[in-house]
Amino acid sequence: MKLICIGRNYAAHIEELANERPEEPVVFIKPDSSVLPKEQDFYIPEFSNEIHYEVEVLVKIKKVGKHIEKRFAHTYYDEIGLGIDFTARDLQSKLKEKGLPWEKAKGFDGAAVVGKWVSKEKFKNTNDLKFSLLKNGEEVQMGNTSLMLWKIDELVSYVSTYFTLKKGDIIFTGTPAGVGKIQANDYLSGILEEQEMFSVKIK
Ligand code: ZN
Repeated sequence: MKLICIGRNYAAHIEELANERPEEPVVFIKPDSSVLPKEQDFYIPEFSNEIHYEVEVLVKIKKVGKHIEKRFAHTYYDEIGLGIDFTARDLQSKLKEKGLPWEKAKGFDGAAVVGKWVSKEKFKNTNDLKFSLLKNGEEVQMGNTSLMLWKIDELVSYVSTYFTLKKGDIIFTGTPAGVGKIQANDYLSGILEEQEMFSVKIK
């Protein structure tokens, strides 16, 4: 199982990190070992002093596909979720400066929170889903999939031109504005269309 993550998919988040608006989706991979086991707390790793949360809508792939056309993309997934792409921002900034790959900053153990899954049939329109992240009960990130630069079907199609998608693979569709630092004893919870999808304690 692989986690395929999209960077810079919301204009306001690109601005807050002073990044360039990409001409194509920014894609990176997290290994399956980065998934935080269910019910487990997140431990801030020793190699970082700046772990950021990034709440993201997730899409679970249900069958093998390569070179998927956009018009058929919806047949390759039927579950939507919510999760966190934890990022060691200090480490990522150093790697970016040097033009090096981001994996250490994005793919470390526990760096992927995967919440529960909901059938896409439960939603009227997957291109109009609101979601948010609460930190200690206060909303810190809020987004809507209608604001994605590349929508879910475009992403499924795009990534499948590079990587064969397999059953169980998960696409992290990018984070909206409002990313920020976590510290020990924080409590994060993710809401998708009024429903709590995950919660995680920071240690
Ligand atoms: Zn992200």
